[in-house]
Amino acid sequence: MLLTITCTRPDDAAWAATDLGYLLHKHPDRAQVFDQSYGTAHVLYPEATEQRCTAALLLEIDPVRLVRGKTRGTPEFSLAQYVNDRPYAATSLLAVAISTVFSSALHGRCARRPELPDTILPLRIELPAVPCKGGPDRAERMFAPLGWSVTATPVVLDPAFPEWGDSHYVRLELAGTLRLADALTHLYVLLPVLDGGKHYWLADDEIDKLLRAGANWLPAHPERDWITRRYLARRQSLVRTALARLAEIDDAAPEELDAVDEVEVADDAGSDSTGPVTDVHPAPRHDGTRSPLPEPQPAPVSLAVLRRRAVMSALRATGARRVLDLGCGEGVLLRDLLADKMFEEIVGVDVSTRALQIARRRLDRMPGAMAHRIQLRQGALTYTDAALRGYDAAVLMEVIEHIDPPRLPALAHSVFGAARPATVVVTTPNGEYNSLYENLSAGGFRHTDHRFEWSRAEFASWAASIGRNYGYSVRIESVGPEDPALGSPTQLAVFGTSERATTMAEEARR
Ligand code: SAH
Repeated sequence: MLLTITCTRPDDAAWAATDLGYLLHKHPDRAQVFDQSYGTAHVLYPEATEQRCTAALLLEIDPVRLVRGKTRGTPEFSLAQYVNDRPYAATSLLAVAISTVFSSALHGRCARRPELPDTILPLRIELPAVPCKGGPDRAERMFAPLGWSVTATPVVLDPAFPEWGDSHYVRLELAGTLRLADALTHLYVLLPVLDGGKHYWLADDEIDKLLRAGANWLPAHPERDWITRRYLARRQSLVRTALARLAEIDDAAPEELDAVDEVEVADDAGSDSTGPVTDVHPAPRHDGTRSPLPEPQPAPVSLAVLRRRAVMSALRATGARRVLDLGCGEGVLLRDLLADKMFEEIVGVDVSTRALQIARRRLDRMPGAMAHRIQLRQGALTYTDAALRGYDAAVLMEVIEHIDPPRLPALAHSVFGAARPATVVVTTPNGEYNSLYENLSAGGFRHTDHRFEWSRAEFASWAASIGRNYGYSVRIESVGPEDPALGSPTQLAVFGTSERATTMAEEARR
């Protein structure tokens, strides 16, 4: 696997092309060898003059060492561990080599010439063979928004048999004028993304690596969501977390995640559909200009925003001051609740410690004075919890559909029977509306963890039975664009304790 980086010195530049050696921390006069867990990395300079300097990173990958090394847990069948294209097209290993062999350059550090990392250099990058499942177009869409002019030439499968057509490898040439550190972060993230293979080294800290490497450009990249999904090899929990964090960096609303889940379904089915493009502002670049990205379009209000607005207004209408957000997840609603001083005491409950950690981090970024109004509690809603008794209102926003139907009565008992808040607001998808989602296969759910997505009749009947059994009045509303035949995407119910309903429930029990 070969990568070459060529720097050409403009006539008036105050630096020499061989300064590339300082930046890469590798002397142009020497060929150096670095032992790596998967083989050997060589750095050498085929050309090094004041005007033009080329550094080459050559990986000799030892597939047998890979198998004997850390590959336990490799999802591949055993023969594929020995017979594969890794020696020639191991983009994930090339990314690893960039981060280890060119670590200081990747991080924009140069102790001996501290001014160099910020210097914008005319660069040319060449890779003779890059696996690129989406063909040359895909390479263009990845690199061009970052300021590269891209030449991606398909490599024929076998020159002796032209009728076999092209392979899924391209020869990739990138030309651009930018900081070397930025160029390396582009390669570090995007080469494995183009490849799209499962990367056996994927670890939980991959999100941090992605966010660090992409900090300067990923939030504003028009293919941000697609890149994130591919980089994280479609591990949905990692993808969700990464997109939430990217959305925060970009200050866009994390509710885009709703749409992401929907696209995720199509993506897993093998489609290359692009995820929702968020309304993002191009990040300022090192030279103060803005990257050549399309002008931001006004973002349509997402369903998640509409849903939160509907829940908030239902809560406000009841005058509730002490509220529970049951199944609060990563805390998007908690943020809205905190922002409204009317809510004096807020408790978020979720079974997932991971979601609660994210919620906590998010809340920690809010002004400190708010902190005393909120508590996060880990717990399962299918078990009663005396600490949840006596609140004015509770919200179950997009939660019930995550519960196995046989456990729903247990949830109903602990919420409506034991905790018994004066008001309960419940939202859940309207399954009838799903046929309007192009990305969703027939009968498919909007989220892989959903156990059901009820029709309007099913939801109304569940709500009515809760009302009867626990003595609550019920009002059902719809949220989101209304289809005349299929209704709205989200259904919302407001339950209220009322004397009449309570008396009727008691009579029914007797
Ligand atoms: N209300 C949030 C999260 C919805 S996702 C929002 O609208 O953004 C559903 C959430 O319910 C997840 O965070 C999941 O961890 C939580 N959940 C699922 N089953 C649960 C249970 N039995 N007890 C508590 N939380 C549960």
